[in-house]
Amino acid sequence: MTTLLTEALILRNVDFGESDRILHLLTPETGRITVIAKGARRSKKRFPGTLDLFNHLDVQIERRRPTSMARLEAARLRATLHEIRTDPRRFALGCYLLELLDRLAPEGGARLDHRRLFDFALGVLRLIDLQAPDLRMRVLLEIRALDALGIGPELSLCVRCGEALADEPAGAIHFHVAEGGPCCRRCIPEDPQLLPVHRGTLRALERSRALAPEQLGRLALGGGALDEARALVTRFLRFHVGLDLRSVAFLDQQWTAPDASRSMAGQDRP
Ligand SMILES: [Zn+2]
Repeated sequence: MTTLLTEALILRNVDFGESDRILHLLTPETGRITVIAKGARRSKKRFPGTLDLFNHLDVQIERRRPTSMARLEAARLRATLHEIRTDPRRFALGCYLLELLDRLAPEGGARLDHRRLFDFALGVLRLIDLQAPDLRMRVLLEIRALDALGIGPELSLCVRCGEALADEPAGAIHFHVAEGGPCCRRCIPEDPQLLPVHRGTLRALERSRALAPEQLGRLALGGGALDEARALVTRFLRFHVGLDLRSVAFLDQQWTAPDASRSMAGQDRP
C-alpha cells in the first residue's frame, strides 16, 4: 500500500453509490488523480466541511494496489475561497477553469509540471476570489490556463513559416484557428478557419504572458482589441478543447446577466 500526503484542489465532485463520493483532485505531486471518499455522504464527521469545490486542502490518499482506485483517507481544510463560492460571476468563471483543468490536466508525467499547474490553479482561484474579474481578465486567464496546460496559442511567430510577424498593414495578419497561431501575409492559405487579427492585439496578449496573474489588471486591452482577443480565444478553445464543456453555457449566462442573484452558496457546479 502506498500513502500520499499532499495539498489538493477539488476539480470535480460526484456522488457514488449510497454513501460514497468520487473526486477528481489536482495535486502538486500527481497532477490530476481520481479518488473515492468512502462514507463521505453517510457520515458528516468523516470529512467535515471539506469536500466542496474551491477549498484548498491537505489530503491523505492511499492506494492498496497499483491498479485499484485511490482512496481519500483524510482531508483537512487549509483555506476556503469564500467570494468565489458566493458571487455568481466568480463562481461561474471558477467552475469553468476547474472544468478545463479536469478535462485537460495530465495524470502522471513530470512532477515539476504538476507543481507548476497546481500553483497556477491555486493562484488563479485566489485571484478571482480577491478581485471581481472583468471580461479582459477572463480572456487573459483563459489564455493562461491553456498555457499552463501546455496547449496555449502561438502569438508572435507565423505558424506556417516560423518568421516573426512584422508590422503588417491592418487586415494582413490572420489567426489560423486549427493550426493555433497567426499566419503572416505571405503564408495566408485559403481556409475558413482564419480570423483577421491586428498585430497589436497579438502583441498585448503575448505581453500578458510575462505578467504574474495578479498583475494582469494593468495590461491595456480594450475596445476592438478585446473583441478580437475574445473571438480568438473562443474559437481556439472551441476547436482545441471542444464545445462540450458543461460550464460554458452557465458561464456565458452569468456573464451576460446584468444583475445576477448574489447568493450561490451551497450550490454544486452545474
Ligand atoms: Zn509565414
